[in-house]
Amino acid sequence: MDHQEWKRIFQTGIIHPHHTWRLEFTDDLLSANETTTQYKRTTSAWFTCRRCGRPWPSNEVKVIFYIRHADDQGTVIVKVFGQSCKNCEEAPMETPQISLENIEILMHELVEMIKIYFYHEEDSGRRWNPIRLVINSTHEPDHCEGCKNGMCG
Ligand SMILES: [Zn+2]
Ligand SMILES: [Zn+2]
Repeated sequence: MDHQEWKRIFQTGIIHPHHTWRLEFTDDLLSANETTTQYKRTTSAWFTCRRCGRPWPSNEVKVIFYIRHADDQGTVIVKVFGQSCKNCEEAPMETPQISLENIEILMHELVEMIKIYFYHEEDSGRRWNPIRLVINSTHEPDHCEGCKNGMCG
């Protein structure tokens, strides 16, 4: 996953002319007292098993934005939830390969949410839906980091 793309797109959505907003990434879940606001989204992406090389798609890829804002500084810490291969024994959690289009949608939603929630801007009414994948299999809670943390369903 190219985090530079996320950061570049996030910065193009100017939130406030005199406030600095940063985007960071974490592999961990943050506890409630480490953050002020959580914004949860679902997107679609492909995964690839590093053990067997099998790819699979998912429309249940969960993302949490942990948002902190104080004075003229804002930080968004992004946690992207992984999935593991159902064919391999004790397969590791893989990171989704989210398309540029779906990264753009996530960043548009995030910027809009911050403008409304932290700067009391009016809701533009615009909505972005992730570009979904054609999937014939069911979601696998045993192989989803989101499910294990109560994010799905
Ligand atoms: Zn595998
Ligand atoms: Zn799940």
